[in-house]
Amino acid sequence: MTALSVVVPCFNEQGTLTELHARLGDVADELGVGQAFELVLVDDGSTDDTLEVARGLAARDPRVVVLRLSRNFGKEAAMLAGLRAARGSSVALMDGDLQHPPELLTSMYTLLRTTDVEQVVARRDRAADPFVRSQLSRLYYRLVNGLIETVRIQDGVGDFRIMGRPVLDALLELPERNRFSKGLFSWVGFPTGTVSYRNVQRGSGRSGWTLRALLNYGIDGALAFNTRPLRLLLHLGGWAVLVAVVYLLWLLVGYLMHGVTQPGYITTIAVITGLSGVQLLAVGVMGEYVGRIYQEVKARPSYLVHEVIRADQGPRDGDGPAPGDPAGPR
Ligand code: UDP
Ligand code: MG
Repeated sequence: MTALSVVVPCFNEQGTLTELHARLGDVADELGVGQAFELVLVDDGSTDDTLEVARGLAARDPRVVVLRLSRNFGKEAAMLAGLRAARGSSVALMDGDLQHPPELLTSMYTLLRTTDVEQVVARRDRAADPFVRSQLSRLYYRLVNGLIETVRIQDGVGDFRIMGRPVLDALLELPERNRFSKGLFSWVGFPTGTVSYRNVQRGSGRSGWTLRALLNYGIDGALAFNTRPLRLLLHLGGWAVLVAVVYLLWLLVGYLMHGVTQPGYITTIAVITGLSGVQLLAVGVMGEYVGRIYQEVKARPSYLVHEVIRADQGPRDGDGPAPGDPAGPR
């Protein structure tokens, strides 16, 4: 019986995995879960030696399981793959770049075990972040929360967390393919505890996030949860109509009082461009939803597992019950 599983999505993390493994080993010892511990490394199509390093760890330590995805599917998919494979009665999720200090798991696990919370999230303070980055994050959370009504997304709370089986099972029950974990974790609810930690720079390598990817992630966040953006467009349309009616009345009054005065080209152009903009925006937002429907309807798996590597069994191609789903059919 595994007491604690730690799931780590890895994309080009060759430089940090060995240290991460060693430090997690110490944490497991300290928590007294020694052999009832499991480290699930998900190699998300890394282009460096991450897979070889992970393979080496799995060969030396039977507690390490490596899932090798068939290509880079992105962090969300890699996390899902790892969570499905995890067998622990408590499951932690953390980054592979040592930005999430493994030692914090000690207090997170203890809090989870000794109180009635079912999830413990780690909340980082932004002291070590570049100023612009932290301001952007703040703005991002305000925007996303403004657009989402069902869940609250907290600033500084990322994917570093630990959860009990009920939470994990609830999470894995959610069938959607366009996954926005930050929101899903909060959507499933359950009593949640928080611990704080200091943000640190990456251990090595570079962040896989580009500004564009962050922007798209933000759009995902806003659209993944509800239809509030559509509602906003409805309001916008309503206001546009109201303004148009008032303006028309104004013109009419002018006409009745002074007759035809000027041609009004500028007004015409302004109205045409303004309203076309609103329409394009509306079509774009609707298109995003339609695109999501398309993705869901196609029902492709979020990822494919190429190989599962464990010390006891050695590498086996196509291990697991179904491709892309080591936890069984869903
Ligand atoms: N990651 C991944 N697939 C990707 C990009 C990132 O599995 O396509 C992993 C990465 O290896 C790390 C975690 O997701 O363990 C967070 O990535 P990163 O450090 O680049 O993001 P940041 O800390 O800047 O949010
Ligand atoms: Mg990072």
